[in-house]
Amino acid sequence: MRLDGKVALITGGASGIGLATVRKFVREGAKVLIADINFDQAQAAADDIAGEGFQGNVAAVGVNVAVFAEVEAAVARAVEVFGRLDVIFNNAGIAGGRPLLDHDPDVDYAPMIRIDQDGVYYGILAAGRQFRDQGTGGVIISTSSIYGEQAAELAFTYSAAKAAVISFTRSAAYELAEFGVRAVAITPGRVGTAIINQFSDELKTTFASEQMRNVMTEPEEIANVVAFLASDESNVINGTVVHVDDGYSSFKKRLD
Ligand code: NAD
Repeated sequence: MRLDGKVALITGGASGIGLATVRKFVREGAKVLIADINFDQAQAAADDIAGEGFQGNVAAVGVNVAVFAEVEAAVARAVEVFGRLDVIFNNAGIAGGRPLLDHDPDVDYAPMIRIDQDGVYYGILAAGRQFRDQGTGGVIISTSSIYGEQAAELAFTYSAAKAAVISFTRSAAYELAEFGVRAVAITPGRVGTAIINQFSDELKTTFASEQMRNVMTEPEEIANVVAFLASDESNVINGTVVHVDDGYSSFKKRLD
């Protein structure tokens, strides 16, 4: 029960890494507000988890993280429902991309930046203000990507947004340290969620082979790390990136 008594807001919590983290947090004693643009899926997840013996520990709210007022409202809702906020996991995101010269900026740049980059900024700002006003400290965990630290094919905009997440994390850790707030970014590699499942089996096999264990990472394996980062046991991990990529960023396989 390493998160006993903590209240967390998890964006993108209706699916994939976010949903696995909701489940892990609740099992570790936290109260969680699932915040997702897909409200029906978020509410269904909350009902499911509540029915597993966690009644009163999980709730859902609809939010588009690309709209600051909605993110502020989600933070306010967490406080209204559970009385405080201790952790925000800025995890909502979309992926994909086309070759640069095929871009229409209104389609291939602005929408993704609004969600993957602005959405994280809004979460940091809204939660940071709540942590300051509460005077209790807090933890901000944000989902970047292996592509936040390297360029990749068909990821021109995605890489930029995910790099910004890392930069935001460094600056937020510095700016909010005086309020007892920590900020950490995680960089998942290849995780078996809806984002990856849209690709062919052949590509998924290639993706898995890019990691040291040669398998796709399970969302639950990322959730385990996020729970540790949200807990007081990780109090010296601050303003930095935690690579949760099964070695992706550390090695390159020999081509036969
Ligand atoms: P997913 O599609 O299963 O989950 C993403 C969730 O975000 C969904 O529930 C979706 O409804 C929600 N969402 C999308 N746009 C939103 C918006 N505007 N406002 C609120 N919610 C919104 O995918 P996932 O793999 O679990 O992705 C979670 C995060 O992990 C994303 O930020 C993604 O970029 C990142 N990531 C994933 C991988 C991977 O291999 N799956 C690798 C690196 C990083």
